[in-house]
Amino acid sequence: MHGSLHLYIDGRWIHGEGGIRPILDPSNESVLTTVREGSPQQVDQAVQAAKKAFETTDWSTNAAKRVEILRRIAELMEKSAEEFARLETQNTGKPIRESRLDVADSIACLRYYADLVESRQAWEKDMSDGTTSRVTEEAIGVCALIVPWNFPLLLGVWKLAPALAAGNTVIFKPSEWTPLTFLKLSLLMDEVGIPAGVYNLVLGDGQQAGMPLISHPDVDKVSFTGGSSTGRTIYTECAKQLKRVSLELGGKSPLLIFEDVDIETAVDWTMFGAFFNQGQVCVASSRILVHQNLHDEFLNRLCARVSQIRIGDPLDERTEMGPIISEPHLRKIHQYVEIGLSEGAVLAAGGNRISRVKDGANVSGYYYQPTIFTHVTQSMRIVQEEIFGPVITIQAFSTEDQAIELANGTNYGLAAGVLSRDLDRAKRVSGRLKAGTIWINGYHTPHVEAPWGGFKQSGIGRELGPHGLSAFTEVKHVNTNQRLQLNGWYSFSHS
Ligand code: NAD
Repeated sequence: MHGSLHLYIDGRWIHGEGGIRPILDPSNESVLTTVREGSPQQVDQAVQAAKKAFETTDWSTNAAKRVEILRRIAELMEKSAEEFARLETQNTGKPIRESRLDVADSIACLRYYADLVESRQAWEKDMSDGTTSRVTEEAIGVCALIVPWNFPLLLGVWKLAPALAAGNTVIFKPSEWTPLTFLKLSLLMDEVGIPAGVYNLVLGDGQQAGMPLISHPDVDKVSFTGGSSTGRTIYTECAKQLKRVSLELGGKSPLLIFEDVDIETAVDWTMFGAFFNQGQVCVASSRILVHQNLHDEFLNRLCARVSQIRIGDPLDERTEMGPIISEPHLRKIHQYVEIGLSEGAVLAAGGNRISRVKDGANVSGYYYQPTIFTHVTQSMRIVQEEIFGPVITIQAFSTEDQAIELANGTNYGLAAGVLSRDLDRAKRVSGRLKAGTIWINGYHTPHVEAPWGGFKQSGIGRELGPHGLSAFTEVKHVNTNQRLQLNGWYSFSHS
């Protein structure tokens, strides 16, 4: 960030006129810095700057300039990759190994969309009536980009890179909990000389900054990642003005483990799918569906391995699990554990906040035990609702059909995993799962070239890949008759 200036509007760093917010390190509850957020009037200022830049500069038509700028940002980010990773870890609590992946994936995403726009060609066809048609994808205009706190940099770049590559101008709003890496990225945007107004950063929460942004009449497109209930509010608000909207929302993703998988492999992928980033991942495999023949041994082994996970300082290279993002979110997770117990589920592991380390010393920070529920039924709230923390449920199945029925039995449809040595079966099963991303014998890895998004109430539209670029474009069809001549339709009355 630029001293005490925390908003970047129309090519300048300016003082926020909204509230002051402390930004915490969730691993020790210390204040990393304080930021001065924007007011609704400053959100309007940012939208006006983006509108002016879209209408008066060559940004939307000069693809070569956009490609160059995206590549320069990627280059600069690569030079300070470790600083970005450490800052992300301090602000979110995610283990440093994970932040490094996020930074590398962000750089790859910027480069991918630069390459895609550079190689993009219009679709052309000679039509049967002798005319020719040309279809182009053009920028939409002013885009509002809003992201949550679990992958502040990566999810931000997943929107920023395609939005800018397509020629839009943007207002970016990070989560009020995690603005630091985007403040840092905004310095790079300034350094590469992005034209004034093309990229704007506003800070603030959903009420002060989010709502004024999405409901602004000069915002043409809203791209939102966050919770399903916020997504519903945003969709409703945008419908009033028939705004373009993309929504990347919550999930309750299943991992299906068939009987031909060895226990150690099943446990290994379960831990990775469920507890990466403390389970605060939209696609986290929070519902484990395991064949009944494996169930007991699998559960014993999983509980044993989970008790050994290295939980601690996220900046420590060997830490495997860090803290939860915030005190309110930790409370929400614990409430779900209480709900599970009251519904009759049984805790096989975890279920508590960690307040003391093994030698008896107090620890600060929002740490929560990896938690496993058994004896769950499909209708329980802990099976149906997104907890967004290190809490999973285990269900046994006996047949492929039953596994699929359980897997599809929620309102969500973001992702799923299938573990089996029998690839024919895994492919057959994946064909029947209602989810936007399915990993066979794997989990979690996003691929920038392939789409990301949800079926059912997990969202509307897709990010990443060519679909992610299309989400920031309007399609235009120009049909040309080479020779101007009489049409002749009204020849009866004319003769
Ligand atoms: P959230 O919905 O509370 O907030 C997300 C963002 O929206 C924040 O920047 C917030 O300030 C803003 N916001 C809140 N209310 C708003 C409003 N009325 N208008 C405009 N903006 C508003 O979500 P969260 O707690 O920050 O994140 C967790 C959620 O995000 C989980 O449900 C998770 O599944 C989801 N998520 C989805 C994906 C995906 O790709 N599908 C990825 C990551 C996270």
